[in-house]
Amino acid sequence: MRKPFIAANWKMNKTIEETEEFINSFLPMVSDVTGVDIAIAPPFTSLCVAAKLLKKSGVSLAAQNVFYEEKGAYTGEISPVMLLSSGCTWVIIGHSERRQYFSETDEIVNKKIHTAGKNGLDVILCIGESLQEREEDRTFEVIEQQLAGSLKDVQLDGITIAYEPIWAIGTGKTATKEQANEAHACIRDWLKKNREGAGEVRILYGGSVTPDNIESLMSQPEVDGALVGGASLRPDSFAMIVKGAVTA
Ligand code: PEP
Repeated sequence: MRKPFIAANWKMNKTIEETEEFINSFLPMVSDVTGVDIAIAPPFTSLCVAAKLLKKSGVSLAAQNVFYEEKGAYTGEISPVMLLSSGCTWVIIGHSERRQYFSETDEIVNKKIHTAGKNGLDVILCIGESLQEREEDRTFEVIEQQLAGSLKDVQLDGITIAYEPIWAIGTGKTATKEQANEAHACIRDWLKKNREGAGEVRILYGGSVTPDNIESLMSQPEVDGALVGGASLRPDSFAMIVKGAVTA
């Protein structure tokens, strides 16, 4: 039985003060919620303050990105060692916005996963097709290609997959629960065919998740949780999503 997992991706939102405000109101809202893992990924500048506030809360801290070297002359980059010392236990790798705006390829994503894993960070690997790829009926092919490239020589310990169809991210267009489940089933099949321990890997859905659709998505056997962007920016809506994930 895979434990539900809900993760917030704040993207480039929230100052240090706004982070404090969010966490101080969010934690009491979920203090009695059990049976679900929760993580929050603020921007780098808010990691240290978030780590202090989340300590002993049971809510984990995630980063939104990482570089694939441990240290050195890489101006502007952040290493897995730095993330660990800032209190992170998770890192999101391969988000479609990183692939689209920062030219991250599966090869780069793969290098990042290797360095993150070697340093003991758990990884949320994001994959998903564009609208054009879906319309050309290439969804499963794209998913399999991304898995093969991103997970090259990677074992599944510490890996969570987030299926995020690009056309559903920040658009208000959610995949139907059936579309999400069949994509997750394709991911699970690929993992089973190619790696040990595929049955325990959690597969999250991401793309316009809200308090209104979380229960329906979580009713699907292959949907183990959600990676939430826009709706994670308000403590009340993120808390409702967390609660919806356990009542589904
Ligand atoms: C995301 O960026 O990972 C995401 C799923 O965003 P949103 O929930 O806003 O679609």
